[in-house]
Amino acid sequence: MATAEILVIVYGSCARDPENDERYGAEQRRVEITLRPTLPSSATTPAKREQWLWTFLPNLALDMKHNRNWRCEFCKNRARETYWMNAPWMHLNPPRVVSYVHHVCDAGAGPCAERLRQINAEVARQTGLPPAANLPPTDQVFPLSASCAVCHNETEKSRKNLKQCSRCELTRYCGVDCQRADWRRHKVCCAAVKEVKWHWT
Ligand SMILES: [Zn+2]
Ligand SMILES: [Zn+2]
Ligand SMILES: [Zn+2]
Repeated sequence: MATAEILVIVYGSCARDPENDERYGAEQRRVEITLRPTLPSSATTPAKREQWLWTFLPNLALDMKHNRNWRCEFCKNRARETYWMNAPWMHLNPPRVVSYVHHVCDAGAGPCAERLRQINAEVARQTGLPPAANLPPTDQVFPLSASCAVCHNETEKSRKNLKQCSRCELTRYCGVDCQRADWRRHKVCCAAVKEVKWHWT
């Protein structure tokens, strides 16, 4: 069965990181996740593979969002939103996708959203692909990155007791009830994860 190669690089920082641009780049805290999902047999052309990709990636969002107690990549606030920049090459064999996931306080408005726009333009320049769309400003408050992927409980007690899925070692839950409730959704990501490398010292 044909598979795709997806490399997801999740960027963020933790509370004790200094606030400066030097923490962006090779030294930055990040996790690199290699996924090898099986392509559906109907995905026979680059266009159809791209169509499949836009159903596969949104399903990963919860797994990437709740994998660690991230701070905003650009300020000291705790991260609540993730922003994805995708560079897909679906004509290759196997098809290849590099996804950059940024953990931020607010991806729609303010100085951190502006930093994202700058990085977005830089990634587009380097890859030759069109820049990802900017998120529109919204008043909605999103759950913390380090809350249960199902119930989003934000209490300190819940956060300290979060447990990772033992198979993929990514997605976090407050307990077995939430983990069971999420299995139908999460198993697609869980089965596709081949390697997880933490750059977190
Ligand atoms: Zn911020
Ligand atoms: Zn929960
Ligand atoms: Zn898992």
